[in-house]
Amino acid sequence: MPSSQSANVLIPYGLIRAGLALLLLLSVVWPASVVFSGSGKVPDVAHPIVTPHVYTKHGRCENCGMKLNMWARTRYSFDLLSREHHVCSIQCVAVVARQSQEAPQNVKVAVYLEPETMIAADQAFYLVGSTARGTMSAVSKIAFASKEKAENFGAEYGGTVMTFTQVLAKVEAEL
Ligand SMILES: [Zn+2]
Repeated sequence: MPSSQSANVLIPYGLIRAGLALLLLLSVVWPASVVFSGSGKVPDVAHPIVTPHVYTKHGRCENCGMKLNMWARTRYSFDLLSREHHVCSIQCVAVVARQSQEAPQNVKVAVYLEPETMIAADQAFYLVGSTARGTMSAVSKIAFASKEKAENFGAEYGGTVMTFTQVLAKVEAEL
C-alpha cells in the first residue's frame, strides 16, 4: 500500500509556515508591549490646552488645521520631501506620510506631561489606549521620555507601552 504509506508522512508545510509566521509576529510585538488595566480614572491633564502657552511658533496642524499650541502635548515635527512638517498627532503624521508615499524622517514628538519638550520619537515610550484623551482618535497615543514614566502613568490610567514604530504601524493599518 505505497499510497497510504506516503499519506502517513505528509507534512503540513502550510501549517508550519503559518505557525512560524505567527511566532515571528509575536516575537516582534510582545517584548515591548506591557499592558496595564489601570484604575479607570481619567488623568487630570488639560488636553486640549484651552489657553495655551506658545509651545511652538507653528500655528496649525498642516493636515487637519487644529491649533498646535492647544494640542501641544501630542504634536509632532518631521522631515519629508525636503522640508519640515508640523502636525497635531501621530494620526496626522500617518496621513501626510501616506499622501507623500515616503517615510517621515527625524520625527520628534512632544512629551505628553511636558508639552514644551520635544524628543526623538524613536527614543520615546508610548502609552496607547489609556484613559487620557486622544487627538484625532478615540484611542490616545501619548509619549513619555522614559519607560518608567510610561509604565507609572499606565499603572494608574491603563494602556499598552509601545515603541514609535509599533504605534505608527498600528495607525497606518487603521487609516
Ligand atoms: Zn492634525
